Amino acid sequence: MTNPSVDTHLLPADRSAEPLLAVDNLHVEFKTRQGLVRAVNGVSYSLSAGETLAVLGESGSGKSVTAQAIMGILDMPPARIPKGEVRFHGTDMLRLSEEARTQIRGQRIAMIFQDALSALNPVFTVGWQIAEMFRVHKGMSKKQGYAKAVELMERVRIPAAKQRVHDYPHQFSGGMRQRIMIAMSIALDPEVLIADEPTTALDVTVQAQIMELLAELQRESNMGLILITHDLGVVADVADKIAVMYGGRIVEHALVHDVYASPAHPYSKGLLESIPRVDLKGQDLYAIKGLPPNLLDMPTGCAFHPRCPYRRDNCVTDVPPLYEISGTRSSACHYFREVLDGTSG
Ligand code: SF4
Repeated sequence: MTNPSVDTHLLPADRSAEPLLAVDNLHVEFKTRQGLVRAVNGVSYSLSAGETLAVLGESGSGKSVTAQAIMGILDMPPARIPKGEVRFHGTDMLRLSEEARTQIRGQRIAMIFQDALSALNPVFTVGWQIAEMFRVHKGMSKKQGYAKAVELMERVRIPAAKQRVHDYPHQFSGGMRQRIMIAMSIALDPEVLIADEPTTALDVTVQAQIMELLAELQRESNMGLILITHDLGVVADVADKIAVMYGGRIVEHALVHDVYASPAHPYSKGLLESIPRVDLKGQDLYAIKGLPPNLLDMPTGCAFHPRCPYRRDNCVTDVPPLYEISGTRSSACHYFREVLDGTSG
């Protein structure tokens, strides 16, 4: 759904050739006292309307930094984007003025953060905070803003929304606060919604409800949804495709059912095997050995080699490119065929 209030001069004449959002060869680095941290190294992915892309990886993999670059909310400096594009309807947002980006941010591309309690302002009622968005962006009156707030709270299924619109964030449970964050993020009908670990702080039942709600809202409005998570288990039913990130790069990009059926990278395989299964009750949970790489001192060759059971000598010296396996699938592993075959190194 496009937002008619936004300047159309930002959009190219022909939108059909471009995906809704395209991240292309993005690099993000941070200058720190300890040295240069290359947090994102050549990440590319795209998103169409109505599509859900899950971006998966451990903390430090670059998934959230990529999202912050899309939103234009990185602190620059210390962050720097030396290369790459973030195209929205074909227009590279990295080259837009801050004023033009502000028109897109929050209105056409919105984001849900993982910690709803710190994202919401504790001294204002939730109704005031939602209504404020309508007053600022749509010029609505206070009364109209509150009516919209109640409508949105009902849409994200907050019981007794008419009464609870006057409550403060701390009066809601964690799951309800996350619903309020979702209500705020969809308030202005964004075309792209980025959800950064939206269920991390919640218990398993509430996690499932929130994922279901996001999927339902996406279907209703045909938004593109980017779901950032470290948990492969939560995306199975909602994502169309997955980009698995490790050490600032995409190591596997595929349709979600292909990854579940046969992962093509040892890291994705490890993540899949780490998902708790009811049929393996009583057995120890599988965990990928070792620790995520230190971005200040990245391993040579393939960044995953210190942890990889498939490792060969050349893995220590040669950085694997993202090999294209099929039109919808790629893997940054020299030995992806062996991984696909399930043969161990
Ligand atoms: Fe493992 Fe080598 Fe593949 Fe890297 S390139 S994931 S070390 S087999």
